[in-house]
Amino acid sequence: MNSLLKFSIKQKHREHLKKRKEKIFKGNIVQCSICNSEYREFGPFGNTKRKNSKCHNCGSLERHRLIWKYIQDKELINKPLRLLHFAPEKVFYDIFSESSQIDYFPCDLHPDIYNYNGNIPVRKADITKIPFEDDYFDFILCNHVLEHIPNDALAMSELYRVMKPNGLGIFQVPIDYDREKTYEDFSITSPKARLKAFGRRDHVRWYGQDYKERLTNAGFEVTEDDFIDSFSTEEQFKYGFDCTEKIYLCRK
Ligand SMILES: [Zn+2]
Repeated sequence: MNSLLKFSIKQKHREHLKKRKEKIFKGNIVQCSICNSEYREFGPFGNTKRKNSKCHNCGSLERHRLIWKYIQDKELINKPLRLLHFAPEKVFYDIFSESSQIDYFPCDLHPDIYNYNGNIPVRKADITKIPFEDDYFDFILCNHVLEHIPNDALAMSELYRVMKPNGLGIFQVPIDYDREKTYEDFSITSPKARLKAFGRRDHVRWYGQDYKERLTNAGFEVTEDDFIDSFSTEEQFKYGFDCTEKIYLCRK
């Protein structure tokens, strides 16, 4: 079977599944802050199949919906800007690549894994050696990437280097707020042992309360924003947010 035919069958299957889910979850209890779709609840997602997580239409998760609400609320990208996006999630790729005022650079160490249909290709980039000049980007989005990078201090210093003075970045990672200090142990290398130690097969650490300090050490002025608290418990549920998530807004 040729690959085009395979792709078209997959696409049809995906559309069929999406329609079925939209029917099953029909309702107006929750609302996606990105695509505005309303449902009885969001779909389950993750290792633990956590409930009320994934949007049936755009595929957004809790963290995407909160970041987007934050970006909109604070008007962070409401002007022409050059935007670097690491490990580009489809839901944001679609928005940024279609915006006429965003000069968009989606990047990943493994660009081949992305088969987005947009007109901007995902470029190959190592976050510890970012292939752009100093002071190049107005805005950087790097969402759930640093927990995969052994030398995260180097990655942070590279993010700092390529950001323009007064530029901004949102750098989210999973954080265990019960830990005062970030836990990492580079002798743990097998996927199975990493799963046990760090919660995922491809994570190399558990960040703790000192995450802000690690970003500050790279040079950033960091706002650890409890933006989530500006929503009532009912609103947090309605938008399917994670009530423990803080936004890490970094300025150079
Ligand atoms: Zn959505």
